[in-house]
Amino acid sequence: MKPTFTSNGYAKKSINPDTWAMLEIAHKEGIETVWDRLAKQQPQCGYCNLGTSCRICAMGPCRVDPFGEGPQKGVCGADADIIVARNLARTIAAGASSHSDHGRDILETFHRVGEGKTDIYKITDPDKLRRLAEEYGLATDGKNDQELTEELAWEMMEDYGMHRARLPLAKRAPLARQDIWDKTGTFPRGIDRENVEALHRTHMGVDNDWVNILLHAVRTSLSDGWGGSMIATELSDILFGVPTPKKSFVNLGVIKAEQVNIILHGHNPMLSEVIVAASQDPNLLALAKEKGAAGINLAGLCCTGNEVLMRKGIPMAGNHLMQELCIMTGAVEVMLVDYQCIMPAVTETARCFHTKVISTFDKAKFPGAEHISFDPARGLEIGRQIVRIAVENFTRRVPERVRIPVEPTPMMAGFSVEAILGALGGTPQPLVDAIVQGSIRGAVGVVGCNNPKFKQDLGHTELTKRLIENDILVLVTGCAAVADGKAGLMVPEAADKAGPGLRAVCKALGIPPVLHMGSCVDNTRILVLAAALANHLGVDISALPLAGAAPEWYSEKAVAIGTYVVASGIYTVLGMAPPIFGSPNVVKLLTEGLEGVFGATFAVEPDPNRAAVLIRRHIEGKRAGLGLTAIAPDDIAMPEAELALV
Ligand code: SF4
Ligand code: SF4
Repeated sequence: MKPTFTSNGYAKKSINPDTWAMLEIAHKEGIETVWDRLAKQQPQCGYCNLGTSCRICAMGPCRVDPFGEGPQKGVCGADADIIVARNLARTIAAGASSHSDHGRDILETFHRVGEGKTDIYKITDPDKLRRLAEEYGLATDGKNDQELTEELAWEMMEDYGMHRARLPLAKRAPLARQDIWDKTGTFPRGIDRENVEALHRTHMGVDNDWVNILLHAVRTSLSDGWGGSMIATELSDILFGVPTPKKSFVNLGVIKAEQVNIILHGHNPMLSEVIVAASQDPNLLALAKEKGAAGINLAGLCCTGNEVLMRKGIPMAGNHLMQELCIMTGAVEVMLVDYQCIMPAVTETARCFHTKVISTFDKAKFPGAEHISFDPARGLEIGRQIVRIAVENFTRRVPERVRIPVEPTPMMAGFSVEAILGALGGTPQPLVDAIVQGSIRGAVGVVGCNNPKFKQDLGHTELTKRLIENDILVLVTGCAAVADGKAGLMVPEAADKAGPGLRAVCKALGIPPVLHMGSCVDNTRILVLAAALANHLGVDISALPLAGAAPEWYSEKAVAIGTYVVASGIYTVLGMAPPIFGSPNVVKLLTEGLEGVFGATFAVEPDPNRAAVLIRRHIEGKRAGLGLTAIAPDDIAMPEAELALV
């Protein structure tokens, strides 16, 4: 039995005992963490926080004072509205580009499969391949999987270019939604086109109408949600399999003291999938035994972890803020990184231990890491090379420094749209019936990151608890999913924590009240499910009792996600605002004005209990709009602010 850790003063930083234990070790051994670096950055720049600083050109950098004492315009004449809108658009473009470039990498591998130029990748789900090919208007009869793959790959490459007036996958949205995008000029065309145009428009002296800039930012985000991210999800499913429900474990306890441990960190599943295969290689297992290890253990971090958890049941070591703490267990032989959300600090932490950090994508190198260039043509060979490095490194481990503080917590994952509809008998009707009867009031996607400005995982878990207690089904992705997993909310027994209606549905289906739908790019699964429900009912997505929340977000990708979710008609509550408060006009547009255009807005509420009330009021309002039984908003009391930023 592992010792029980107390917070030791670290309760302000996290709700998790594994984090407390590792922070205690970091403190004793003088190892710097993300929390220390945040403290050293205080006070952070007020202008940047408000979004009114600009360094786009060399006449600047400029700062605009929203309180009226200092300059009201930058050197070029840009006011606060223009500067805030430009900064926000660039943030969205960076987030959308990250997801979409990830999608492109998967597409290139998919194309290699079509060309027959890879040593391991193959079509795992030919049915989904054929469904997607038909969606793209390709004739499938008489073609084998390889021919169809090559043809579909060429078609999807066009999604990144300038031939298309409308992205094909965006046509999954209800017609009423597509109509809104047409009328507002936000229907996404080519993925790269929207992102490049966002950078062009925000160059000095191009688009100086702040509303026009933001409309293009919406279009850019939609090219991510209904384009690049959706391509990443769809093709990963075809290559690696559509996720199905499976049991696994989460927290630092999944690292095994007696085994070689490899941590899979980042976002792209291509290499991690082959590491799973390589870790079962009999020769490497025999080598591990020779080196004194009982086996080879894989554990995930962030969204690469979510990808292999969803499809292979590989346990999850933690979310974003755990990356340095993982290494401090002293039991990690290799931290394998691809890209996104990997702090450069991990190589510094690794230097204090025997851990090797191995980077794999030529577009994401890390000083202090060993770089092994990933090539999908030699995926298995590279996978074996990396596992061998980990096994060889086991003998460099210092046994006295191995500290694994907790027992793992069970969780369930693998709820793809196909799996959810399969559990419902192949149609959304049972879910619709449960919503109509009121046993389920609605559904909410709780997604996004950790941010050291918040007490780790408090926002995700408290919001989730309040929602399920009130019969609201919660769909989770990304680091939010890991938080809820650690809190024990993602096992079928957690149905006991739900309200009576949701509890009964979960017990009947044997599912948790919180469904893990995947990684950050897999937020597109939530869009597809929302579109399926809306199309089934013949309404727009904005009519449904749905909402989104990102209680602890930090990343530019999260801003892109929030924007495409709102532009798809889903009200979204953020735990903190992006830097927009320097422009009251932009704030008003995002929190009120978008309602009249896209049928949804953003709200900002750091206290998860209050965020839950905002969401419940919204969901009951949508129920009333559909003529369903609804609680009056005033009957849902708003608590005093209590739980918030650190
Ligand atoms: S674009 Fe305008 S506001 Fe921005 S740095 Fe240049 S001069 Fe200053
Ligand atoms: S949820 Fe945020 S922190 Fe976590 S992996 Fe995704 S983008 Fe990164």
